[in-house]
Amino acid sequence: MRKTNISVYQSLYDKRGRIGDPCVYCGSPSSTLDHVPPISHIETMSISDALCDFDPALYPACSECNSAFLGAKWFHNMNDRKSFVADCIKKKYKRILNFPKWTDDDLKEMSPEMVDEIRATERLSDDTKKRLEFALIGFVSIK
Ligand SMILES: [Zn+2]
Repeated sequence: MRKTNISVYQSLYDKRGRIGDPCVYCGSPSSTLDHVPPISHIETMSISDALCDFDPALYPACSECNSAFLGAKWFHNMNDRKSFVADCIKKKYKRILNFPKWTDDDLKEMSPEMVDEIRATERLSDDTKKRLEFALIGFVSIK
């Protein structure tokens, strides 16, 4: 396995937020910082080229969005990165996004466990719709 001296590259990145800030891709609370461009990409070029061609930045990202880029192609701009995340959310949560709304009338014959399950899925569906809406709007630069 190739060894990367991350500390050499780390100093190139401008920090544009902190862990806990909204994820730049979906708006959920972040738990990671996303290297844009990825260190694996930047280490293939000279540091002067990296600084000339890119504006290396560390963006707050939730772990789900950050890991969505693992193995993905390199997207050159943040709008493309957000579109990619939106596509990932649409694919991964297709059934959840289409989950129907249930009325209290619909649920009155069901067991409390079933009602809890349905309400939890409705909450996940609502949260996922909000993440998708956020991912679909253009990237707003953070300085
Ligand atoms: Zn996210």
